[in-house]
Amino acid sequence: MTRPAIVTRFAPSPTGFLHIGGARTALFNYLFAKKHGGQFKLRIEDTDKARSTQEATQAILDGLEWMELPHDGDVVYQSQNAQAHIDAANAMIASGHAYRCYLSAEDQDALKAVAREEGRAFRSPWRELGQSDYPATGDFVVRFKVPEGQTTITDNVQGEITWQNKDFDDLILLRADGSPVYMLAVVVDDHDMGVTHIIRGDDHLINAGRQTLIYRALGRDVPQFAHVPLIHGPDGKKLSKRHGALGAEAYRDDGYIPAGLRNYLMKLGWSHGDQEIFTDSEAAEAFDLSGIVKSAARLDFEKMAHINGQHIQMGEDADIMARARPFLIAQNPDGYSADSQTRVMTAMPELKSRSKTLKDLAEQAFYLTRPRPIPMPAKAARILSQEALNRLSDLQISLEALEDTQWHSEPLQACLTDFAARHDVGFGKIGQPLRMALTGGAPSPDLSVVLTRLGKEETLARLSDVLTAT
Ligand code: GLU
Repeated sequence: MTRPAIVTRFAPSPTGFLHIGGARTALFNYLFAKKHGGQFKLRIEDTDKARSTQEATQAILDGLEWMELPHDGDVVYQSQNAQAHIDAANAMIASGHAYRCYLSAEDQDALKAVAREEGRAFRSPWRELGQSDYPATGDFVVRFKVPEGQTTITDNVQGEITWQNKDFDDLILLRADGSPVYMLAVVVDDHDMGVTHIIRGDDHLINAGRQTLIYRALGRDVPQFAHVPLIHGPDGKKLSKRHGALGAEAYRDDGYIPAGLRNYLMKLGWSHGDQEIFTDSEAAEAFDLSGIVKSAARLDFEKMAHINGQHIQMGEDADIMARARPFLIAQNPDGYSADSQTRVMTAMPELKSRSKTLKDLAEQAFYLTRPRPIPMPAKAARILSQEALNRLSDLQISLEALEDTQWHSEPLQACLTDFAARHDVGFGKIGQPLRMALTGGAPSPDLSVVLTRLGKEETLARLSDVLTAT
């Protein structure tokens, strides 16, 4: 007999953006499926019509696309499976695992209140009646008939968990308008999609008990569960707006790259020795449910940035360039030229090694991309004194005299050092005004690197801008 393929799924409710916790859940499901050569499916749980929106669905799809977590097959929309859910509820009525409850809403509330007062779960008096007792007309909900006994699951993270069935309410399966509830829909859909492993937040742990009862009532195999502790803020408190960025798109906008964020999220609440940096294939190979940590994980933004920086450094120049482009453009609303793009590309090795995010990278690259003439900050007046300008003018001549083949770090450094010696001044007397003239005070590396990356033509042009402006 062949072993059943592994099928996982991510099943978000479309009520907001792709939350960082949801992104991690999706990632774990994705990695687990990849590791086992299985499938990762996506289901949008849009049965709560009042809270589900098209925008939220789109935001989740966009977020997953940006995270580069492709799902297998079509997106499943839970609302489109209503008939299968209703059929399952009716099958459970027929087999005696569910019943119609004709109590009015007020009577249900009253009986529930009594049950709560007596410290027991709700049971409707209709549970003891059979189909032949149902009236010909009248509103009803369909309730699950919670059986006697207890329910145990062996969760892949939380271990063995047992609930006493008497503590579970006879939950509603179909509402009075005939619409199915989440607890039923999720079981029917997971079964119909062939889901073998459910990896999700541990806020759903108790639902696993109820859902197990429904699987059994339907005579279906119960999938494996793995309930992952939630993500907390750096202060150890439940994640909230106060902790800053919560949605995947906020990280995108902050200049995180998907590979970096994935690596960070994979490590968040999952441990694997001391290894911190994983390539995609290493991640899919290493990931396992047994490494999921039982306690809540804390966001650590410094670590997130550090890991992201490592992935920027590991990235292909052209790929990082393409990802950085929107940041470079946003930084230069007055124009971002093809020339500056070429300069950035040439400088990629050092830019990548100095940047934790694409935003950092754009900042580090700013000196290369600023359109001329570069506006000078207020402090430039002091640095570009008449004396300094006179020296820059002389320096311009020396630089101009350099052959194109000499236009790289070492000869340039030699030229600058030599120039300082000839003028009998410290290097700073030349370096500081030169840097200001060429960068307008933007962050920049060693001067010889600045000159190399700008190239002869741009360097001389920027010097001229400053010398002719005064
Ligand atoms: N739709 C549920 C949620 O977004 C998840 C359900 C599940 O994973 O079983 O919280």
